Amino acid sequence: MKTKRTTKKKPTTKRKPSKRYAAIPCEIVQRQFEFNTEGRYFDLQTVFDKINAQYFGNRLRRYTITWGQKRRKKPEAMIVFGSIQEEDRIIRIHPLLDREFVPRWYVEYVVFHEMLHAFVPDRYDSAGRRIVHHEGFLKRERSFRFYKRAIEWEQDNLGRFLR
Ligand SMILES: [Zn+2]
Repeated sequence: MKTKRTTKKKPTTKRKPSKRYAAIPCEIVQRQFEFNTEGRYFDLQTVFDKINAQYFGNRLRRYTITWGQKRRKKPEAMIVFGSIQEEDRIIRIHPLLDREFVPRWYVEYVVFHEMLHAFVPDRYDSAGRRIVHHEGFLKRERSFRFYKRAIEWEQDNLGRFLR
């Protein structure tokens, strides 16, 4: 059914209700208190548990995994698909990965990568700088079953996540 507007709107001062501003306090609440593992396409807890069993002998305990906060705009030049906050044991995955075209094994790869940070200690160079993706880390990372496929997919599809 098509609905046509019959009365012409006066081009005067009627302002749109400002939903944007109304939404802001909710976002802050969500950022601080709420963790969300269940996405539209992927449940991160399921992914975490599977990878934990498959690659880490279920040894990663008391970790929280959550989709990160949704942003209004896509990132422009680069995107961080995952991060880990060791102090609080929180792994965050970028919500843009919760899309139909993203293969499950790619999401699993991103989760695996963050979990590996919890498992493989960082190193420090002689100047005391922290190295997170050191040779030992990268070597273990390549043990992920779909590593090569994931890296290739990432290179081919990165543009779809950026503006
Ligand atoms: Zn990393």
